Amino acid sequence: MKYCSVCAGHIELKIPEGDSRPRHVCEQCGTIHYQNPRIVAGTLPTYQGKILLCKRAIEPRMGYWTLPAGFMENGESTEQAALRETWEEALAKVEIQQLFSMISVVHIDQVHIFYTAVLPTAEFSSGPESLEVALFAPEDIPWDELAFSTVEKSLRLFLENPTPARVHTLEVNRNR
Ligand SMILES: [Zn+2]
Repeated sequence: MKYCSVCAGHIELKIPEGDSRPRHVCEQCGTIHYQNPRIVAGTLPTYQGKILLCKRAIEPRMGYWTLPAGFMENGESTEQAALRETWEEALAKVEIQQLFSMISVVHIDQVHIFYTAVLPTAEFSSGPESLEVALFAPEDIPWDELAFSTVEKSLRLFLENPTPARVHTLEVNRNR
């Protein structure tokens, strides 16, 4: 960040009084531009024992398979974000079951949240961000062609136990 989004003044990196970390502070108006992790919310949708995956039509990881997920927007809940992304990427209306995994992707300052969900009917198709959307039996999951390690981890944990007693909270330091 070089210029202030409030007044277009120069930004310097300094530790504000009472703080303990360097922040982007405007030299002109004094605004502190905090930078905090972003949340990615998505679903792990199933239909009759098969799992819905989307082949990405956009970078990063174009052509690789992912669970439907994306950045939360302001003004929505994590559940709403997960449902919206599932609709946008897979044109699927799912019913959320439970919060399944919450993964801190530390090196890129993101938190990925996945809910298990069910498709009431096998109705889905490719949204603009997907090349293809398909249901996979557990034995057919394309492990070598998954887009992100948070997706792979969530799928592996799900196949071990689809209804765990507590949410999987974990941390990864690379995401492919
Ligand atoms: Zn400013």
